[in-house]
Amino acid sequence: MNIPEQLLAQLNDVKGFNREALIEAHNHPAVTSVRLNPHKHSAAFADNEQVPWCASGRYLPERPVFTLDPLYHAGAYYVQEASSMFLHQVLSSEVLNNRPLRVLDLCAAPGGKSTLIASFLGEDDLLVSNEVIRTRASILEENMTRWGHMNTWVTSNDPKDFGRLTGYFDVIVVDAPCSGSGLFRKDARALDEWSEANVQLCSQRQQRILADVWPALKEGGVLIYATCSYSPQEDEEILDWLSENFEVKGLPVKTQAEWGVVETQSKKGLHGYRFSPDKVKGEGFFIAAVQKKEEADELKPIRYKTLQDKKAQEQTQHLLDTDFVCLQLDKENYVAIHLSHEVDYHILKQFVYLRKTGTQLGTPTPKEWLPAHDVALSIHRSKSIPSIELNKEQALKFLKKEEADIQLNDKGWFLLTYNGLGLGWIKSIGKRYNNYLPKHWRIRMEIPDADWE
Ligand code: SAM
Repeated sequence: MNIPEQLLAQLNDVKGFNREALIEAHNHPAVTSVRLNPHKHSAAFADNEQVPWCASGRYLPERPVFTLDPLYHAGAYYVQEASSMFLHQVLSSEVLNNRPLRVLDLCAAPGGKSTLIASFLGEDDLLVSNEVIRTRASILEENMTRWGHMNTWVTSNDPKDFGRLTGYFDVIVVDAPCSGSGLFRKDARALDEWSEANVQLCSQRQQRILADVWPALKEGGVLIYATCSYSPQEDEEILDWLSENFEVKGLPVKTQAEWGVVETQSKKGLHGYRFSPDKVKGEGFFIAAVQKKEEADELKPIRYKTLQDKKAQEQTQHLLDTDFVCLQLDKENYVAIHLSHEVDYHILKQFVYLRKTGTQLGTPTPKEWLPAHDVALSIHRSKSIPSIELNKEQALKFLKKEEADIQLNDKGWFLLTYNGLGLGWIKSIGKRYNNYLPKHWRIRMEIPDADWE
């Protein structure tokens, strides 16, 4: 693989740059890694080598076909590039000790950073995962649903829409669209599409995105900025642009020498953290955190009415094992959110398009409650829901929406599980059943004979 000469020239003055070592590292395949879901325990990869900067990160010796693993569909782990898991180390910073936190992940699809943030946060914290491109927002929504949290909501807005939520967020993560040089080993297209002109274009877009969202960060709040580009124009120079245009303080992040992470300083003295495959077991990545040191406007308090729906409450209380939730009605679907987020629900609704909030519970029909797929994947799902444990062949058939030979003794709704983790719903109508896995979630690939067991 030939790294463009113009890119290598851009890196000459970058701390830690080793031309020969970087070129040599690009003769090796990308590293494969996953991050385990701490709320969905399973045997998958638990004993694999740990990613040094993220307790739930695991390296894999090779890349399996994840689609053929029901545990992947159950949200037991997320396939994520190892370097970017360093976000966990950044979030562990002392300035974020004041809870509860409102976090915005502005450029969130497909959901790697958002699922990591979700695992880091507590129930009272709130994560808004945003993706401006609609088709990518639906993949984000699917991945966040799999991860199973009630306090991770999905929006699909332009960054400037968030600018109107003045002083609202404690943390904003901008994992910016970039020229992608850090992913050359993973994605050959990134190499084909790389050009100096595109680096320039990306740098301007990064500045525009940051300027648009900046008002939404509260005073003392933390902006975490990341790219998968090696170019200083998209990394340290963006930090300098921030410090020229806003009042910011750089935040150092703890690292250990043996991790191979290179701490750099921008010209204005802000800290950045570089990952390069000749030094770390991972791909190219850059991350930095700055604290906002200027006053932010406050939002006007809002008035709202709490939804009182005793009947729906009674009909749904068997679905989740959690207290302190309130119901919202989204068209005909009922949604459970934490009581402490009721005000956020009403504020956010005024400013942005809420694609997904809380845990969808489903819809009442004249005869019964139609449970939503969300419940099956929720980390709060009630353990008393009647469920049927599947073997791998049955699970794959269910996920492919093919007839699986499942022993049914009763009629009614059943949750199907694999290794105890929810996969989806069926409704038994005697000897037959209807498969309620949403159509667009189904496995589309042909399953090789050897992979059924
Ligand atoms: N954070 C994601 C993760 O960890 O899985 C990866 C994000 S990717 C590096 C950047 C994202 O920014 C893409 O999903 C892309 O669609 C989105 N994006 C593209 N143009 C944008 C813009 N003008 N404003 C905000 N986001 C944009």
